[in-house]
Amino acid sequence: MKHQQFETWILLDTELNQEQQRNLQVHLNQCAQCNSLYRATQQIAHLFRTSPVPEPAPDFSYRWIARMDRVENRKNRLILGATLGGISLATILVLSSVGIQLRSTLVYFPQMMLEMVTLITKWIIFLNQLWDIFTPLFRVSIKLVSPVWLYSVGLSLSGITAAWMVAFFRSRTLQKELLP
Ligand SMILES: [Zn+2]
Repeated sequence: MKHQQFETWILLDTELNQEQQRNLQVHLNQCAQCNSLYRATQQIAHLFRTSPVPEPAPDFSYRWIARMDRVENRKNRLILGATLGGISLATILVLSSVGIQLRSTLVYFPQMMLEMVTLITKWIIFLNQLWDIFTPLFRVSIKLVSPVWLYSVGLSLSGITAAWMVAFFRSRTLQKELLP
């Protein structure tokens, strides 16, 4: 049998019958080239068998996070749109009421509008940046912080608020008493 035939068997990992297997073994003992090729393919096969199979978990969690981000982006856009709509409506109402009272300032109206829009845009950008910073922070901290911690922080915050409110009203009643 020819050297080429054994080479093909080795490379294609062909299923061999008993006689063919015996022939291959005989040839491997005679031919150094086929012997090294055989050993190399065995090593590669061993490598494939023993190398860790890529776990589905990282890919899965990555996709899950990406999906969550998509949902969050949609929510962000909704909140931004609602805020922008509300502010625009309020601006139009305020400007129209001012416009009725000050008809002579109608000349400045476009500039006023422009300044108002600039101001609102800056605010929106600022709020959006805040949102961008706080949502990941919140998402991370909610995983790290235990519910007990969250409850205690919430309780202490409301406690501080209640104390501040009591102090505020006390000082006001004190002022009333001092200043008749
Ligand atoms: Zn050979």
